Amino acid sequence: MTSDTVTLSFEIFPPKTPAATATLAETLDALAPLPVSFLSITSGAGGGNAGASAATAAAYGSAIGAPPRPHLTCVQGSQEELEELVASYLALGIDRFVALRGDAPVGMDSYEPRADGFAYADELARALKAWGAEDVAVGAYPETHPDARDAAHCRDVLKRKLDAGADRILTQYCFDTDRLLRWADELREDGIDAPIGVGIMPVHNYEQIKRFSERCGAGVPAWLGEALGDVAPGSPEAFERAAEIGAEQCRRLVAAGLPHLHFYVLNRSALTQAILQRLETGPVPVRWAA
Ligand SMILES: Cc1cc2nc3c(=O)[nH]c(=O)nc-3n(C[C@H](O)[C@H](O)[C@H](O)COP(=O)(O)OP(=O)(O)OC[C@H]3O[C@@H](n4cnc5c(N)ncnc54)[C@H](O)[C@@H]3O)c2cc1C
Repeated sequence: MTSDTVTLSFEIFPPKTPAATATLAETLDALAPLPVSFLSITSGAGGGNAGASAATAAAYGSAIGAPPRPHLTCVQGSQEELEELVASYLALGIDRFVALRGDAPVGMDSYEPRADGFAYADELARALKAWGAEDVAVGAYPETHPDARDAAHCRDVLKRKLDAGADRILTQYCFDTDRLLRWADELREDGIDAPIGVGIMPVHNYEQIKRFSERCGAGVPAWLGEALGDVAPGSPEAFERAAEIGAEQCRRLVAAGLPHLHFYVLNRSALTQAILQRLETGPVPVRWAA
């Protein structure tokens, strides 16, 4: 029996209510014993939050014992505003970021770059490196971004972001592991060899994930519905099945040479912990690397 070495990162969103703040604090506490390579913090995702201030991001990082990695989007501010925000992060020693375009605000049909901003994530990634960022991650889409002409265009856009100085890739979640692995092979064939953190979405609630996936262009395969559609959300059975589904995907990714797992924690720890525990105790147990 051999072991595989895996690195972990977690993604959270800044909470908006005192109750949600308390839940996040418990989550960070519960996940802190794991060797997390970074904690990414969303900004404006789904129109839902405004991102974390530098002090808040630093506090989240301290709570979990990992470097915080704020997400920045082109829609979030003018070039000048983003430079000021980044300066405030750098002043607290936060020098890792996720550079993203962001989406059209609710009510607008399609994305329009702001006149005073960066049009696309490649421009933001380049600016971040120029402003002193140590490490910049960019988004990527195994099932093709909804605005991309086709899969080849989507890979070209990714290549442009890496050519602009981005250091690593974080993927949208993709439940179809075969497709994900084919996509990773295609990147390599295109000469894209940056580290890939594969987005893992624990399925807390099947109906919710179906609705959310429609909005972000991720597929929900029929087998997932068959596996989870008949159990009550929140029930112990739904939890066990979702944990095994997540663990099985992670095992396949690790076995196929994709050993960085980026968990969409959604500010709740239990399902992520259950998946990780299965990886630690499975037939080919994983070892965590910092
Ligand atoms: C890991 C991850 C984390 C995320 N976190 C957040 C978050 O915190 N907040 C949030 O609001 N959203 C977030 N998103 C969602 C993301 O903002 C959206 O998917 C957005 O629509 C695309 O962002 P991007 O950075 O991938 O865009 P880009 O790489 O800029 O590309 C998006 C599309 O724009 C077009 N395009 C790109 N460059 C050019 C160009 N030079 N000329 C013409 N067309 C071009 C292409 O059609 C491309 O498909 C996240 C996504 C991922 C994968």
